[in-house]
Amino acid sequence: MGELPEQLRHNIGHAYILEGEASKRLALGRAFAKNLNCLESSDDACGQCISCRVFESGNHPDVFFVKTTKATSIGVDDVRDQIVNEMATKPFKYKYKVFIVDKAETLTPAAQNALLKTIEEPAHYGVFLFLATHVHTLLPTILSRCVLVKLGDEQAIPELEHEALAEEIADNITSMDILGTMALYKRFEAYKESRESMTKLLDMLYLSYAKRIRQSADKNDYVNKHWFNSIAAINQTKEVLAQNGNFQLAVELMLLKLNGS
Ligand SMILES: [Zn+2]
Repeated sequence: MGELPEQLRHNIGHAYILEGEASKRLALGRAFAKNLNCLESSDDACGQCISCRVFESGNHPDVFFVKTTKATSIGVDDVRDQIVNEMATKPFKYKYKVFIVDKAETLTPAAQNALLKTIEEPAHYGVFLFLATHVHTLLPTILSRCVLVKLGDEQAIPELEHEALAEEIADNITSMDILGTMALYKRFEAYKESRESMTKLLDMLYLSYAKRIRQSADKNDYVNKHWFNSIAAINQTKEVLAQNGNFQLAVELMLLKLNGS
């Protein structure tokens, strides 16, 4: 791991949000946790001391990777058992107790509330690293107490491109065969690294179908049930992606549903 971003180098705070793509934020979270407890170096982990070596072995007694017992969210019990109770005691051996919470955007509101007091009045040895793809599901009370570190430069794709692609799909997909439908996935690949653009594309796609429903309702025309199913498929895809589900699988499944197969 190279150099840590500026925000992480000085004035150790107690709570950080590392916002970005999964592998990037985890690599940085690990590097930071290792750095915090390194016995030799103040700027970058030495990799040689006992703390660094124990960390690399995956058994550091003062670094906690918070695990969730549920598939889709981090609940209040996870937070109480693994963070709040653990924070009550001093570090086992090293300087900081570091809590790494990946997919922090899946913390339920109750779980976030359970964390609040610990973040507001942190023990001097406690450090939180919340790793998230995006932070909009975190409560303002949590956000305001964390240092937000945005990782990576997501390439924003212009709005017009979303709109054109969304219309093209809504216009043509039901008349495509399976191969043609699956080939559409290629068009989504550019969106894979840009969560913001993908969300906008799915919103546009949603609007394309909503527009069709509204227009035919206005004309007292028949309303195609498939359009409603398509909207459901788009919403479902948004949810899966918000929870860091597999991008390609989610998009391909959506395309098949839009196709009607
Ligand atoms: Zn070290």
